Parts: sequence; C-alpha cells; structure tokens
Amino acid sequence: MIVPFVDLKAQYLAIRDEVRAAIDTVFDQCEFVLGQEVTAFEAEFARYCHAKHALGVANGLDALTLVARGLGIGPGDEVIVPAMTFIASALAFSQVGATPVLVDVTSDSALIDPARIEAAITPRTKAICAVHLYGQCADMAAITAVAARHGLPVIEDAAQAHGADDNGLRAGSLGLAACFSFYPGKNLGGYGDAGGICTNDDALNERLSSLRNYGAKVKYHHEQLGGNSRLDSIQAAILRVKLRYLDGWTAARRQHAARYDAVLADLPQVRRTIYRPGSVYHLYVIRVADRDAALTKLHQAGIGAGIHYPFALHQQECYRDLGYQPGDFPNAEDWAAHSISLPLYAELPEDAPERVAAVLRVL
Ligand SMILES: *Cc1c(COP(=O)(O)O)cnc(C)c1O
Repeated sequence: MIVPFVDLKAQYLAIRDEVRAAIDTVFDQCEFVLGQEVTAFEAEFARYCHAKHALGVANGLDALTLVARGLGIGPGDEVIVPAMTFIASALAFSQVGATPVLVDVTSDSALIDPARIEAAITPRTKAICAVHLYGQCADMAAITAVAARHGLPVIEDAAQAHGADDNGLRAGSLGLAACFSFYPGKNLGGYGDAGGICTNDDALNERLSSLRNYGAKVKYHHEQLGGNSRLDSIQAAILRVKLRYLDGWTAARRQHAARYDAVLADLPQVRRTIYRPGSVYHLYVIRVADRDAALTKLHQAGIGAGIHYPFALHQQECYRDLGYQPGDFPNAEDWAAHSISLPLYAELPEDAPERVAAVLRVL
C-alpha cells in the first residue's frame, strides 16, 4: 500500500522513547492493574473531556455495558440506538438483557436523527444512546431536548470522538455518562484493549467504580454483583503519553479532512459526508454509487480504503430477532451500501487526498 488505511507504526516511531520510558516506570513500580498510573490518567482524561470524573475500564464495550448496569438497565427494558453504528453500541444493552430499539440516522452525517427518536420511545424505554460516529458529536441539544421531555438519560458512545466538540461543549460531558474506547486504532488508542467512562454524576461514578472491580469499594466487601473490567497500568501509562499529543494529532486530522473536502468537492461521483462542526474525524467517509468498483480502483492504486460499516444493525444476523425489515431504516441502509472510509490519520502523506481524488475522478 502506498497510502495505508492506518499507520500505527508512524505514530509509534514519533513517540517511541516516551512510551518506552512510561512502560519502564510501570515495570519499576510493579503495579500492573489500576493503581497510580490509572488514577493519574483518569484525572487527566476527565480534565480533557471537561467532565468531573473519568474511570479506566477494560474496553469500550465494557464501558457501555457498565453504564447500562450502573443505570439499572436490564431485562424488559429498551434503549434507543442509531441503526448505523458499530455493533458495540447496541450489544452492550443486549448483554444486560435489554432490547436495542433502532432509530434511523441522518442522510447528511450518519448520526441518529433527533426528529425520529420520539416515535421510538415506549413506556419501556430507559435511555437514549447517542453515538458520536466518525468523530462528530451527535446533535446533543436536540437529543437532550427529546430525552428531557420523557425523563430519559442520554448515554454518549464517544468511542470515536475523543476531543470532539458540540456547540463549544466537549464529548464526554454532554450526557449522563460517556463511554470511550482506547482500542489501538481510535483517535486516542492504547497498545492493547482499554476503555473509559466519563460522568459528572458523583453517585453513578462511585457505582461504576465499584462495578468494574467486583462490586467492591473496599477489598472483599462486595456490595454489588460486579465484574472485572479494570484498566491495566501499562495502558494507562501509554495513554497518558499519547493524551499530550492528541490535540496536535486532531489538528492534523482536521487539515487532511479539509484537503479531502476541497479535492472531492467538484466530483459528482462522490457524496461527501457533511461533518458536524467540532468533528475530530475518526473516519473520513464518502458515498459512491458503485462501491465495489471504487474500492477495487483505490486498492489497485495502493490506497487502503475500508468500509465502516457494511451493514446497518438491523441487517446483522445477530439482530434478526429484533424483527426489523429491509427498508425500515433507509438512510442507515444507504450508508451501509455505499460508504467508503478513506485513509485519515495525523501522519497521512500530504498528497494522499489528491491521489484519492485522481482515482475517484475516473470512476
Ligand atoms: C470501537 C467502538 C466501540 C467499542 O470499543 P472496544 O474498545 O472495541 O470494545 C463502541 N462503539 C463505537 C462507536 C466504536 O467505534
């Protein structure tokens, strides 16, 4: 590949010495699970997200599942989830025995359509999960207004949106709780699995802190049926290093995205995503009529394009029993059928957008 889809190696080489020193510190302390590196990362990440609390957990899916448990969501309950997202946004609620109720996304941005939420609310609805897909915040003002009318909490799935803003407010501080993934390929990624939860709610934070560690606040005093979803100290130490670079990486992503916008603007073959302001561009997604042909040409030109995501949630085998039909979520189906994710990361070669445009121009 001349332009790979992601290039974790380029980023690692730029921060190699700092990362290795941070890992050495953990080895010297011999404190490998939770502990001072995790506590320090939690404080730094909470500050970064303009949130009162942050908790390190094992991964992004666990972050969502823990929040569901912490809010008492369980069998018989429903949670509203956008039809176009990564499976984890719905799976977390299935894991606690609740039912995801899907709502279509917008045609412009692939974000949950606030205007369609109200029709999906029933007496069983316990929460709305707002997914900040592709690095852009969902329209939280509109979603919060609907939620408030029905007394429902909003859970942010911010796994793709570290540092994204919505009307001057930061992802992680916009709902009752916000769930992050630090999977290696995310905008802020560890060198292994890791996740986090932000909240401004003291009581919820305390419940979640105990739930991630066997339901005990004090060792061997188990107040709740908790689980093990602790963050490794090594991941926390690495994430502390990388958090210091995140704003610089985000600025570079935004510049590359602006370049893509410019070079793709005059191509009638390409439908660009209308990213909401404040996006951190986890992915740069376009839509084309003949995706197979476009992907083949991009790959032949050495450009590592991908698909996020090839199926809407109601098209997934595991969710067949939800009983949805083809055509129920036309926008989500359109994104699933036609979207292509172009390479985008801080270290993207400067000429990548022009190379991509040259291929797509002759589709
Ligand atoms: C990555 C991701 C998750 C899950 O995170 P993991 O750390 O992989 O468990 C959840 N939601 C969205 C939108 C994601 O992109």
